[in-house]
Amino acid sequence: MKTLRSYVRGTWHEANSDFVTLVNPSTEEEIARASSAGIDFGAVLDYARERGGPALRAMTFTQRAQLLKEMSRLLREHRDELLDLSALNTGTTRPDGSFDVDGASGTLAYYASLGWRLGDRTFFAEGEGVQLAKTEGFYGRHILVPRHGVAVHINAFNFPAWGFAEKAACALLAGMPIVTKPATATAMVTERCIEILIAADILPEGALQLIVGSTGDLLDRLGPQDVLAFTGSAGTARSLRSRGNLLAANTRVNVEADSLNAAILAPDVQDGAATFGFFLKDVVREITQKSGQKCTAVRRILIPAARLDSVQEALVAKLREVAVGNPADPAVRMGPLATAEQLADTLRGVGELKQAARIVHGTGERADGAGAPAGKGFFLQPTLLRSDDARNAAPVHRREVFAPVATLLPYDGTAGDAVEIVALGGGTLVTSAYTDDAAWTGDLVARGGGGTGRIYIGSESSAADAPGSGAALPQTLHGGPGRAGGGEELGGLVGVKLYLQRVAVQGSRALVDGLIGS
Ligand code: NAP
Repeated sequence: MKTLRSYVRGTWHEANSDFVTLVNPSTEEEIARASSAGIDFGAVLDYARERGGPALRAMTFTQRAQLLKEMSRLLREHRDELLDLSALNTGTTRPDGSFDVDGASGTLAYYASLGWRLGDRTFFAEGEGVQLAKTEGFYGRHILVPRHGVAVHINAFNFPAWGFAEKAACALLAGMPIVTKPATATAMVTERCIEILIAADILPEGALQLIVGSTGDLLDRLGPQDVLAFTGSAGTARSLRSRGNLLAANTRVNVEADSLNAAILAPDVQDGAATFGFFLKDVVREITQKSGQKCTAVRRILIPAARLDSVQEALVAKLREVAVGNPADPAVRMGPLATAEQLADTLRGVGELKQAARIVHGTGERADGAGAPAGKGFFLQPTLLRSDDARNAAPVHRREVFAPVATLLPYDGTAGDAVEIVALGGGTLVTSAYTDDAAWTGDLVARGGGGTGRIYIGSESSAADAPGSGAALPQTLHGGPGRAGGGEELGGLVGVKLYLQRVAVQGSRALVDGLIGS
């Protein structure tokens, strides 16, 4: 069985105790083991602070962009191998794996292009300068400079390639060294990504370290210049961000947590309309892609009350077509859940949803998968529930079931009612609306914008181009308020600024312009 390694202080570290076993989620065969035992985490941080940080800060944005471009190219070159590993360790079909693997190389490439636009400088100015006195003798301007610490990245199990790369792209472009930690259960893809990048010897020493397994006392050692960027469940986020040393040092913490995303069908969209077809296609994909294990997956589907029956029928007809099983079988469209724990949590979660909703498709029980041994594998058929009283369906607005599970809810057709129901979930990463009615959309944005990080409008005019509400694109914000973590990632420079310190530089205009450039 393969032993996964960490990459720390310029060498590969193989533990010899405290192993966690990784399994193929389609067959439950043991495939690897992982542990971080024996790592000196203080030395890991020192190595990043003393070697990686200074080396990266000495580089210009253009030079850092070149690194990202190379990283993107290398991951693209190894795409097939990474997709195979993804199927083995996370149970993804080829298209689902590519969402992760191509998402990783694409995001790195995007940030490379952004870095080139920032140019041959080591910092950049933000906004216009401002005169602060009667004359230009006192003038101010903001600049953004790299923080002098370490960016610690802790990622969720569902995006082992993209999760690593989207955070790495922003931190490296900003000029901060990284310690990255994938979720242990699905660490094989991340480990291989780092192996590929290290073998190519493109990064400065200390710029990129990998921890496979527990973080030991690493987080206890973070201080005022460090950044902790976390993606995972709301519960883990709460325990990490409330650590005493992080609070005392005001260590910058960014959280991307869970979210009860909503898709809303507006009343103008009739059965048979192009936008209705788009809605069905999008929602079915957002329930089933990566077996529903996406933080941006659709969990709640709001339908004008009078049309609940017919829309349910249309969705169920589409969900019936989804073949579930081992991704090694070419007929399979949806793989298993990633781990036994995920399956167990899902079954508990469906039980909670059933307190307020009834199942209208699927069973909410483990199933056998096509192409997998009977009784083995963490499979679940897509599961659709329905509640006829959206405002009194508390579990539906409280419980994230991280699986191909969603609940139909009625609303009165107004944007106001939809927004109030969506808000019961406490803040979303994405709220999608399917409509061709500009006035209704305007009302939704005005009333509901504050409750989400992204509003995705599915209409006839976007149907040919839009990638689906679940795609977190690097150009636009990923993150959401409240339950979604309150974080901000991607969004072009927004994500890079997490790793930069904003400094107001004050002095005479001549001096400030001379320092910063006009
Ligand atoms: P999780 O159990 O919270 O774990 C997330 C990460 O935190 C893993 O790497 C885990 O490592 C690590 N971790 C857990 N306890 C820790 C501790 N005390 N100290 C340091 N690290 C610790 O979440 P998950 O099950 O992997 O992911 C599913 C959740 O993530 C879902 O709720 C989903 O909505 C959310 N998610 C959010 C986004 C987003 O961008 N908003 C994206 C993807 C997923 P180990 O694996 O070693 O325990």
